[in-house]
Formats: sequence, structure tokens, C-alpha cells
Amino acid sequence: MRDAGIATRAIHAGEAPDPATGASAPPIVTSTTFVTERPEGFSIHAFAEEKPYIYGRWGNPTVDALEAKVAALEEAPAAVAFASGMAASAAVLLSLLSAGDELIISEINYPGTAELARQTLPRFGIHVQTVDSSDLEALEAALQRRTAGADTRVLWLETPANPILRLTDIEAASQLAHAHDALVVVDSTFASPILTRPLTLGADFVVHSLTKYIGGHGDALGGVVCGASDAMAALRQDALIHQGGVLSPFNAWLIARGMATLPMRMQAHSAAAAAVAAFLEAHPAVARVLYPGLPSHPQHELAQRQMSAGGGMLAFVPAATAQRDPLAQGRYLAQAFADRLAIVHYAVSLGHQRSLIYWIETEAMLRDSYQLDAAGAQRFRDAAGAGLFRVSIGLEDAQDICADLDRVLRAAGEGRAGG
Ligand SMILES: *Cc1c(COP(=O)(O)O)cnc(C)c1O
Repeated sequence: MRDAGIATRAIHAGEAPDPATGASAPPIVTSTTFVTERPEGFSIHAFAEEKPYIYGRWGNPTVDALEAKVAALEEAPAAVAFASGMAASAAVLLSLLSAGDELIISEINYPGTAELARQTLPRFGIHVQTVDSSDLEALEAALQRRTAGADTRVLWLETPANPILRLTDIEAASQLAHAHDALVVVDSTFASPILTRPLTLGADFVVHSLTKYIGGHGDALGGVVCGASDAMAALRQDALIHQGGVLSPFNAWLIARGMATLPMRMQAHSAAAAAVAAFLEAHPAVARVLYPGLPSHPQHELAQRQMSAGGGMLAFVPAATAQRDPLAQGRYLAQAFADRLAIVHYAVSLGHQRSLIYWIETEAMLRDSYQLDAAGAQRFRDAAGAGLFRVSIGLEDAQDICADLDRVLRAAGEGRAGG
């Protein structure tokens, strides 16, 4: 299966007709416990690696099938699934880092990860340094600057990074980190395994929120970590079995079902997003569009090298109007979108068949999530302005998405929330 094309792997990896019934679609095994043929131990330590199914937190056939499918797409030796993307992220950080170690993390990323790194990990004696990882000189300086006495164990990257779609060169950053004996984790949720495969570029671990593109339908939370077999076995024992954030078999089944169409969905998301990005970039109500597939993206050249398409995520900064500055206009538009959009849902999350839009205010993000120095905050403001709309382009017809956004943008530009 590993040599098959990516569409074939998305459908067939991790599954086979059920030997008991011949069922073509895989069954869901929901049992939390498994009958054993002979008395076994009562701790996970009592079992060899090739253990039978014993208890649902230690392993489940439906979850195993999903892990095999994700690993096949990521070109990873192994994968471990978790109850959510944050459970996966927390597991990998807590199992790699100990008191006295240092984490270097990109200064802009998903707020849950940013807050975990800045607000929780320091309580356990873990040093945290933030860096603009899109700037390789700044990254090298951060690796050299390591906190006195600390061991830089982990470099955490997110690319494209939420919410400004900033990219990091995974291959170059991994080379720098490895020269300093640090392991590289990439949160590749926005790219999915279809657009970028970080392990093939030198990263040590890949994290995904399965809730997003991989599941793809907005109906199941999940997360996954991919990496080397021994590292994944250690993660399963240390972080999954003992911290307990296991994925439910029902969610694993839904997510694996969604994955069959992931390669086609990513192409369709990317094509529609490219069309909407071009439309918004030419729109008088829009000051700036951030989309890796646009030539105006500051790292468009890296996007073309590192991503096989631009992806389904874009952000745009509203233009000021005669009546309102960009912040006031953003707030006004946010309410207008929430009230008036017919197709696009005003909602958080991303990667679903339905298009989603959400207003994100810059100063709130800086205060609550990022807590950057003056230069880092300025870099974020330069990209995000006073605030931006993050848009997850779904699988609807691009012209319908454009028309829906246009109707509200035009009405708000004329000073009435009509439509
Ligand atoms: C959503 C998201 C997460 C967290 O995933 P959950 O499944 O919501 O816990 C982590 N990273 C990125 C980039 C995300 O978009």
C-alpha cells in the first residue's frame, strides 16, 4: 500500500474487507474491553509490544485503522491518535520536555498551543522562547541564545500558521534545529498530509487536528501525532495510556470515512480558495488578502516549493470606509456577516465542506495568546492590521461563496448592514 498513489492510500490504507463477514466498509468496534484467551498482566508494562487488544485506552482496532491511514498519507512509520488536536499537541510537548528543558516555538500559531506553551509549560519548569520562525536568521539566533543552563529539546513550528498564514521553511528550520540537537515538531493542520509532508522535509514529528481537513466534515473532534515507530510507541505508553486522551472509536470511524476523499477535497478547497482570494484582493472593501497561493503573499515562492497547492485557508483585512476606521469596520462587518451571510457560516474551526468565517482582533490575540515583545507584536500588526477575517473556504461553488461575501461587503461599504 505504501507504494500506491495518495488517492489509493487515502481509500485503502488501514482497512480491508472484514474477514468475519466480508463487509467492504470497515466496522466500528466500540467495546471498551476485550476477552483474553489466557490470564494477562494488569499494567501496560506487563505486555510486550505485540499485545492483543486488552482495554480500550490501550488500543482499539477502529482507532488503529485510522492511525494506519494517517501514517500512510504522511509517509510516517507510525501515528498515534488522540481525542483532539490539543490532546495530541499537549501529549507530544509533555512527553518530550522535562523541567529545565527549553521549547522554542513560532511566535504566531493556533491560540490553544500558544497559550499552553506560554501559560502552562513554564509552571513545570520548562523554558519557552518565541521566535519568528519564518526568519531563519532569527531562528538561528534563538537556538544560540538558549536560556542559560537549559537544553533546547524542541522546536515547534506551525505552517501555514494561524491566523496570518505565515509559512516556515520546514527543511531549512529542521537543519538548523538538528545542528543544535533539538527535535522538530510541525503542526501541519492547515496543509494536511496532501499539501505538505513535513517528515520528508526533515521534521521529527507531525501533529494534526483531525477535527479540520482530515476529518473534513465538521462532525468529529480528534488529533494525531506522526513520527518514528519507537517514538510513537513511547508516546502511546507515556502520553496516551497514562494521560488518557484517547480518541473514541466512533470518531475514528467518522474521520477515516472522511479521509477517503481528502486528496480530492484538498484540491477542491485550494481551487475555490484561490478564486475567492483573487476576488477579495480586487474588492474595494478589502485592504489586504493573506493567502499562500497569491503572488502577493510575502512567502509565495516558499509556498510553491513546500505546498502542492495553496490550501483552503485565507485571511483578509477590511479596508477603512468614510465612516469607520479598519477596527470599527471589522467589528461592523463581523456583525453583518453573522446576520446576513446565507452560505458561509459565521463560526470558528476550519477544514469542513461548509465555508466558515470568523473575525479575529489583533490586540486581543496579542494580549490573550501571544504576549510578544514590541518587535514581535509589530510584525503581527503589520500582517493582521487591527484585525482580520479568517476564512475557511469549503466545497461550495466558488462563485456562490464570492457572491455571499460580496453582498455583505458591498452593503457594509455603503454604510448599511443590508443585503
Ligand atoms: C484546531 C487546531 C488545533 C487544535 O485542534 P482541536 O482538534 O480543536 O483540539 C491545533 N492546531 C491548529 C493549527 C488548529 O487549527
